[in-house]
Amino acid sequence: MKSNIEAFLDLVKERNGQEPEFLQAVEEVAETVIPYIVKHDIYYGKNILLRMVEPERVITFRVCWVDDNGEIQVNRGYRIQMNSAIGPYKGGLRFHPTVNMSVLKFLAFEQVFKNSLTTLPMGGGKGGSDFDPKGKSDNEIMRFCHAFMSELFRHIGPNTDVPAGDIGVGSREIGFLFGMYKKLRNEFTGVLTGKGLSWGGSPIRPEATGYGNVYFAQKMLETKGDSFEGKNVVVSGSGNVAQFAAEKVLQLGGKVITLSDSSGYIYDTDGIDVEKLAFVMELKNVKRARISEYIDVYPNAKFVKGKTPWEVTCDVALPCATQNELNENDANTLLSNGCICVSEGANMPSTKEAIAAFHKAKILFAPGKASNAGGVATSGLEMTQNSLRFKWSREEVDNKLKDIMSDIHKSCLEYGKDDDGYIDYVRGANIAGFVKVADAMLAQGV
Ligand code: GLU
Repeated sequence: MKSNIEAFLDLVKERNGQEPEFLQAVEEVAETVIPYIVKHDIYYGKNILLRMVEPERVITFRVCWVDDNGEIQVNRGYRIQMNSAIGPYKGGLRFHPTVNMSVLKFLAFEQVFKNSLTTLPMGGGKGGSDFDPKGKSDNEIMRFCHAFMSELFRHIGPNTDVPAGDIGVGSREIGFLFGMYKKLRNEFTGVLTGKGLSWGGSPIRPEATGYGNVYFAQKMLETKGDSFEGKNVVVSGSGNVAQFAAEKVLQLGGKVITLSDSSGYIYDTDGIDVEKLAFVMELKNVKRARISEYIDVYPNAKFVKGKTPWEVTCDVALPCATQNELNENDANTLLSNGCICVSEGANMPSTKEAIAAFHKAKILFAPGKASNAGGVATSGLEMTQNSLRFKWSREEVDNKLKDIMSDIHKSCLEYGKDDDGYIDYVRGANIAGFVKVADAMLAQGV
C-alpha cells in the first residue's frame, strides 16, 4: 500500500513530470506537512496541499529587445502568481540563463511558505527571464528591462503583485523596471521593492537577506549557548546575499574565509576583513568582474577553479549562491571537518540528500525559506512605508528585521522540536508556513 505522501507525490509528478526543481521543493514540504495534515481534522481531506502546489496563475510572454549591434534578441519572460491567500503576490524576478518553468515554480512555491513565515501579509510569486545579464552593457540591460516591463506591467500592481530582485536583478534593474512601469501607468506606487533610497526604497533592503541569514544563524547558535565570536565561516556566492552575510559575520566577531562565483572560490586564511570585503563589493557590483581577481590584489589568498568551497574546514557554512550547490558529498565533507551550523542564504542550495546528512548528524541546519526570509520581510517593510508615504530610519528597519528573524526562529521551534530536543528547522518552517496559508484558504472557501 502506498503511503499518503507517496500517493500525493505520484499525483504531483504526473502533472509536473519535467519539473525536477519544483518536484524537489514539493517533496520536501509534503514529507513534513502531510503527516501534520493527517493528524489535524481541520486540514484533513480538504486537498489543501494539492491546491497549494497548483499556481493560481502562470504568465509567460515574449520579450524582444535590440542589442548594441542593432540585432533583435528574443527572450522568454515569466510571472508565476502562486498563492494570494494572505496578501498580494510577492517575490523576486530572476534573470539567468537557467530560468525555466521548473525553477520559477519551485521558487514561487518556496516563497509562499517563506512569506507566510515573515509574519507580514504577503502572498507568494516569482518571475524572471532566461535573459543572461552577464557581459551586457548598461544600455542593453535598460532596453531589456524596459521591454520586459512593457508586458509585465499589466499583470502587477501595489495591491496585486509586487515583484523585487533576485539573481541577476539588483538595484540597477529595479530602477529600469520601475521607470517603465511609471511611464506606462502614470502612477508612482510601491509596485516594486528594492527601490533606491531616494525614490521609495527602504533602508537595509540591500543588506536584509544577508543580515537576516546571519541573525537567524545567531539564534540557532544561541540554542547551544554559542555565538559567531571566533568562528570560521565559509560563505559561497559573492553577490548581494553573500556580501552582506559576510559583513554581518565580521560585525559579530566571526572570520569569513571564502567567497565564490560560478568560476570557483577564493580561500583567504587570513580572513576577508572589512577592507577586503569593500574590494569584493566594488569588484562585483561596479566592475562586474570575476571573484578570481581577488588574488591579484591579495596574493596570500588562493583561487580554486571550478569548485565550491565546502571542502574548506569551518565551523559555520552559509550557502548564499544558488539552488543545489551543496550535495551529499559536500555535506559529509563539512560534517567530517567539524561544521556545526549550516544556514541557507540562497533558495534550496542544499540537495535533499545533503539535508538528510545534516539531520542525521543532528547539527544546526536552517532551510532558506526560514533563514533567508529577511530579504522579503524587509520588502514587506518597504511596502508598508510606501503605503504610509513615510520612511523609517536604518536603525528602525534593522530592529524590525531582527525581531522578524527571531519570530521566525520561534515558529520553527514551535513546530520543529523533536522528542529528544533536536530542532528540525525544515519541519518547523514548513508546518508554520503552511498553517497560516491553509487557515486563510479554508476561511475563504474553495
Ligand atoms: N528574491 C528574494 C527572495 O527569494 C526577495 C523577494 C522579495 O523581496 O520580494 O526571497
